Amino acid sequence: VTARLDPVGQRSETVRRANLSAIVRELHARGPLSRSELVARTGLTRSAIRGLIRELTAAGIANEKRAIPLGTPGRPSPLVRLEPERASVLALEIAVDSLAAALVGLGGNVLASIRVDRPRDHVSLDAIVGDLVALAERVLVPSRRRSAVIGIGVAVAGIVRRSDGFVWMAPNLGWRVTPLGQVLDEALGLAVPLEIANDADLGALAEVRRGAARGIDNVIYLSGEVGVGGGIIVDGRALAGVAGYGGEIGHMPVNPDGRACGCGSTGCWETEIGATALLRRAGRPIDGGRSEVDALLAAATDGDPVSLAALEETGRWLGLGLAGLVNILNPGLVVFGGLFEHLYPFIEEPVRAMLDERALRPPRDLVGLTPSGLGDDAPLLGAAELAFEPLLADPARWLRPRDTLAERATA
Ligand SMILES: [Zn+2]
Repeated sequence: VTARLDPVGQRSETVRRANLSAIVRELHARGPLSRSELVARTGLTRSAIRGLIRELTAAGIANEKRAIPLGTPGRPSPLVRLEPERASVLALEIAVDSLAAALVGLGGNVLASIRVDRPRDHVSLDAIVGDLVALAERVLVPSRRRSAVIGIGVAVAGIVRRSDGFVWMAPNLGWRVTPLGQVLDEALGLAVPLEIANDADLGALAEVRRGAARGIDNVIYLSGEVGVGGGIIVDGRALAGVAGYGGEIGHMPVNPDGRACGCGSTGCWETEIGATALLRRAGRPIDGGRSEVDALLAAATDGDPVSLAALEETGRWLGLGLAGLVNILNPGLVVFGGLFEHLYPFIEEPVRAMLDERALRPPRDLVGLTPSGLGDDAPLLGAAELAFEPLLADPARWLRPRDTLAERATA
């Protein structure tokens, strides 16, 4: 039975929930903080912080302990930290060349993680779901971990409807109109919310929360292998469009005389900057995957002119598309993830030259370029952040100590 609150009581309850959310978000994103740091970061009063921390510790979501002194005089302040084992999420990734699973604790600690290579011809939904379930079982050992899981986040190299995890198209997996969310949810049988999003969108989320773009509100995250994806953050929010299909920068038409793309169109940006285009320019087997790209990079490092020319040409196409995006979006930072993180030392110069040539001067001068801070795991870490979002948005729902957190998740 819920007590009926008067309007003032309702307002103060709304404020309390928002304040709890602000504290848990800070601790989750930044790690352990002292009470004074929490006061400074949230703008709440010291006494409000004290009461809210008491609630979080009583529920076992946080603890407060003195840090080990590091040779500084005086007693160090106690630090408030989240309990990673109390609430965790299962993160899964379906990439073109690999499958991955991770168990991530509240606060972002990766408790277990595994990635396996996947042959490109193995693309049936049932086979991939079966392999993913097997990986999930491995990160959920020991079994007490299972009861702490409050949500599942999945990154997929495809175009996904966010409301139900329906994959409308994943050209590089060979999928069309696939009910991934439903099938995976049933196969995992964890009875907690499952959310699926595009891998590049999740890479962008991870970079903004924990990687190279931390604290930057306007970001383009570019990633890919064969396919090229992008996550676009505008004013601190992911650009999604009406149903979550937005931000597919890899399918931006750039070449009217270009090649056929996996999406059915021709001359998309990914047909000029993806791994296939790079390998073709270097005269290498185009379906050779990451190992063939690594061989090309090794040859380029040794000064091989064919490899260097292929990278230069790819960099110019990259810069051309980016010039358009920079003019439209005026980002503060472009993060090069996935394949492009590996190519970055070779493509940085032609990309910068193309931006100088093609982008408008004011946005060109304001945009920074950087390789990813998180490497190939960015989409997987972003999937974990997606699954944590309900808890971060309203931790009060998770504060009743007698319920298990997993029960809260399904309430
Ligand atoms: Zn396309």
